[in-house]
Amino acid sequence: MFDSHAHYDDKKFDTDRHELLSVLQSNIKIEGIINAATDIKSCEQIIALSEQYSKLYSAIGVHPHETSEVKESYIGKLKAFAKNEKVVAIGEIGLDFHYDFSPRDIQRRLFEDQMILAEELKLPVIIHDREAHGECVAMTEKFPNVIGVFHSFSGSTETAKILLNKGWYISFNGIITFKNATNLRSVVPNIPDDRLLVETDCPYLAPVPHRGERNNSRHMKHTIIELAQLRGQSFEYIEKITTENAKRLFGIE
Ligand SMILES: [Zn+2]
Repeated sequence: MFDSHAHYDDKKFDTDRHELLSVLQSNIKIEGIINAATDIKSCEQIIALSEQYSKLYSAIGVHPHETSEVKESYIGKLKAFAKNEKVVAIGEIGLDFHYDFSPRDIQRRLFEDQMILAEELKLPVIIHDREAHGECVAMTEKFPNVIGVFHSFSGSTETAKILLNKGWYISFNGIITFKNATNLRSVVPNIPDDRLLVETDCPYLAPVPHRGERNNSRHMKHTIIELAQLRGQSFEYIEKITTENAKRLFGIE
């Protein structure tokens, strides 16, 4: 299996990060993990981790929550980070109108600036879309040459279909195992085999029966079991296609 979205730089891993990553590195069931950055310091941390663990790859970018904190020179920093050979995407970027931790105009401006950067660097993007489906879809329409994944997808089947028609991927995590996620579960069977990704978003969103605990890539098997049931496919098949899809999207051999 391939964890397409994790945050192993998060402070919740400070006590045992290297113990845990060593275990994941030697776990033959896990083929790869993409760490998604949230700010400039996070980019530095995940790139350093990817140099120590061959299975770790990096997505570099500024999360919508952090957009009001970064300095004007951040794009130059991202360009320099992108030279690292294990940087495979720009992310996570996007809009969060649920928490609104940064003013919406700043979120919008940095989202667009980072889409321009992705187009220039010919990298896929990882999008965080929380209660901003319309504007996020509009942004993808503004950049027809950029594709990527809507991580922790929370939209409708209709929104998914608009994105799928334009070549985008859809990623699910532990939320699909939560009791109240009926609407989201109804979207899962509508994603074609070649566009489905799976992720942890760890340390957050641990699937049932680990809900509420600190999440890690090993727990992703519970999300794959749920995907398999909802789609009427085998666990092994979901594992295979989501790994192939992640490698194709992120250009990993
Ligand atoms: Zn995330």
